[in-house]
Amino acid sequence: MKWGDFRQSDNVEDRTGGAPEGSGGGGGGFPLGGMHIGAGALILIVIVGWLFGINPLTMLGLLSGSQPPPTQSAPGYGPQTGAAGETPQQARSQAAVNKEFSARVLGDTEDVWSAIFQAMGSRYEPPKLVLFRGSTPSACGRAEAAVGPFYCPGDRDVYLDTSFFAELHQRFGAPGEFAQAYVIAHEVGHHVQNLLGTMQKYDAQRERSNAAQANALSVRLELQADCYAGIWAFYAAKRKLIDTADVDSGLEAAAAVGDDRIQKMTRGAVAPDSFTHGSSAQRARWFRTGLQSGDLRDCNTFAAANP
Ligand SMILES: [Zn+2]
Repeated sequence: MKWGDFRQSDNVEDRTGGAPEGSGGGGGGFPLGGMHIGAGALILIVIVGWLFGINPLTMLGLLSGSQPPPTQSAPGYGPQTGAAGETPQQARSQAAVNKEFSARVLGDTEDVWSAIFQAMGSRYEPPKLVLFRGSTPSACGRAEAAVGPFYCPGDRDVYLDTSFFAELHQRFGAPGEFAQAYVIAHEVGHHVQNLLGTMQKYDAQRERSNAAQANALSVRLELQADCYAGIWAFYAAKRKLIDTADVDSGLEAAAAVGDDRIQKMTRGAVAPDSFTHGSSAQRARWFRTGLQSGDLRDCNTFAAANP
């Protein structure tokens, strides 16, 4: 993955090394109930969902035939944090790499979605990406590392705890890079849903639904964000900045980490009683749908009979 070739976005807010807990920034650490966002949106923010419910074994089976790819990045040149035994100086430079990586992936999603929106006669307003460690306030309540990356419709920001980078890197090394990019692209996919009004329709529909129907809707919303991540990957692949080995290893790596995340989620205070994000097969299929077509219209998970 040649992420060094992506344009760097200015829309990254780095809260990782800054102010102490609770000292301003963002929308304040309100409990969820205090905000004027819909019930669906509340559910949504905890549907960080980027890769929940993917059984790594299934995923490995699914991707069988693909070998771990040779990395195109120089050793040590990849996003991560908190490696054991690193000096404070190394930690600082790693934080800088993380920030640059996030800014470049975000910048590329901005370029891709700007072009798509323009082609539809519309204008893409990019989200802000907030990097944090531990916990930070958001318009959707306090963002906690255990919740994983998420999109908050209330402030239109993507929240990403950078310890998540370390997790992927420590387990998978450089192939984890694509998984990291995928997660950012998935969260940006939720932002696109917000801009297109899909999220608002989703909220309204959920309010008229029973629990089972609401779950089914949330699956469709998540699968569409996966498909949108695939659309971004389509354009990155077109420019030869990612290849199929990136995609395969990235999905694999992300799937394995996803299992941890769902366990944290189900123990976490903000987790709703039950919701699902689709099976690994569904998620991989919708990602690949976007990846193969690059066309928004092919990502209508809400119209599919069996998404
Ligand atoms: Zn999601």
